[in-house]
Amino acid sequence: MLYDLHTHSYCSDGQLSPAELVALARRQGVTVLALTDHDTLDGIAEAQQAALESVDVAAIDSAINSLRGEEDNANSDKPLTIITGIELSTQWRGRGIHIVGLNIDIDSPVLQAAIHTQTQTRIQRAETIAQRLEKAGIKGALAGAKRHAGGGAIGRPHSAQYMVDSGYVGTIPQAFKRYLGAGKVGDVKQCWPDVDEAVKWIVQAGGIAVLAHPDKYDLTRTKLYELLGDFSEAGGQAMEVVSGHQDKSVTLKLARAAEDFSLLASCGSDFHSPKNTWQALGRYSPLPESCTPVWTQFT
Ligand code: AMP
Ligand code: MN
Ligand code: MN
Ligand code: MN
Repeated sequence: MLYDLHTHSYCSDGQLSPAELVALARRQGVTVLALTDHDTLDGIAEAQQAALESVDVAAIDSAINSLRGEEDNANSDKPLTIITGIELSTQWRGRGIHIVGLNIDIDSPVLQAAIHTQTQTRIQRAETIAQRLEKAGIKGALAGAKRHAGGGAIGRPHSAQYMVDSGYVGTIPQAFKRYLGAGKVGDVKQCWPDVDEAVKWIVQAGGIAVLAHPDKYDLTRTKLYELLGDFSEAGGQAMEVVSGHQDKSVTLKLARAAEDFSLLASCGSDFHSPKNTWQALGRYSPLPESCTPVWTQFT
C-alpha cells in the first residue's frame, strides 16, 4: 500500500485536474489518495469518478489477461481508493496554520457552511492582497490572480503566477520571498478562523483533523508543543510526520512530537505540480516505526 494523504488539484492551487491527479497517482503506484484542496471540496466527485473508471478499466484488463492466461501488469491493476479531504486555512496566535481534514462527510452541513465562509474570505482576501500589492507598485493583481485561479479557490500562488507573468519577479518563490510570504505586504491571514474552530468543523463532519506540515511554520519546539496542545484539546487527532521531501532529522523530531501527544501520524507529498520534485506525488520516506498511521482509523 502506498498512501498519499495531502495533494492539490486545480480546484485550488494545484496544476492538474482531479482526474489527471488520479491518473498520475496510479502511475506512481499510489493506492490510497486523499485530495486535500485548500478550503474546497469541488474536486472530490471528479477524483472519485476517475478512480472508479480506472478500476473498471483495470478490471477489464485483468479479466482479458486471465482469459489469455497472461499475468496482470502489477502497476495498472491496483485499485485506487480516494479518501475525501480538505486543507483548511486557519490562524493560531497570529500565524497562518493549515489543518487537513481526512475521511470527511462531504455532505456535512457544518462543513459546507464553513467552506462557504472560507470561499467568501478568500475572495475578500484576494482584494485586500491586490490593494496592498498595488501600493507596492504592482498593477492589475486582482484581475491577474483571478485569471490564474480560474473558477478555483483563489490564493497567493495565483497572485505569484501573475507577478511572474507580468515580469514583476522572476520566479514564484521570489514572489513569496518579496511580497507574499510570512510578514510581507501580501501576507494576509487575520481573516482565517482559529485552529480549534476548524478542527471542530472537521470532527463534526466525521473526519480526522490533521495538523499539516508542522515543520513549515518556523516554530520553536516550545511553540510547536503549545500548538499541538491546543490542537489536541480541540479534538485534533493526527499530524503530518512526513510532508514531501524532508530531512530525516525533521521526520524523527515530528515522530517524537506525535508520540508525546499520542497523535496519529499522516504522510503526504503536498503535491501541487509535476514540476516540483520536492513535492512529488507518492514520493517520500516511510513513516518511522514508532508511529501509529492515521489510516488505522479509516473505516
Ligand atoms: P494561500 O492558500 O493563499 O494562503 O497560499 C498558500 C499556498 O502558497 C501554499 O499552499 C503553497 O502552495 C504556496 N506557497 C506558500 N509559500 C510558498 C513559497 N515560499 N513558494 C512557493 N509557493 C508557496
Ligand atoms: Mn497550496
Ligand atoms: Mn499547506
Ligand atoms: Mn497543501
